[in-house]
Amino acid sequence: MVQDLKKTIPQEIEYDENDLRILWKDGFQSKYNLLSLRKLCPCASCRGGHGGKVGQATGHITKASIISWNKVGRYAINILWNDYHNTGIFSYDNLRAYSEGRMDAFDE
Ligand SMILES: [Zn+2]
Repeated sequence: MVQDLKKTIPQEIEYDENDLRILWKDGFQSKYNLLSLRKLCPCASCRGGHGGKVGQATGHITKASIISWNKVGRYAINILWNDYHNTGIFSYDNLRAYSEGRMDAFDE
C-alpha cells in the first residue's frame, strides 16, 4: 500500500521547452511531450464542452510550452500554458497512468 501511494506522489517536477518530467517517489520517471500534454488538457473547454470530443478545441495547436505550474492540493498540478490557458487540472493518478500506458485521455 505504501508503495502504491509513492507511485502517485511526485518527488521532483521539472520542465524545459519540450517536455515535462516527473520523478515519482517510487523512483519511476515519467516524461511528457508538452504539445501532447497540452492537447490532452482535461478541462471542459478543451473537450469541446459537455458531450464534446477531446481535440476539438486543441487540434489547431502546433506548439506548446509552459509558463508556470502550481500544485493543486496533494493530488494534481495546474499548468499555465504559453497560450495563457490554465483551466486544466492534471491529476497525479492520471499522469502516472498515462505514462504507464494505462490510459490515453485524462479525466476532468
Ligand atoms: Zn483546457
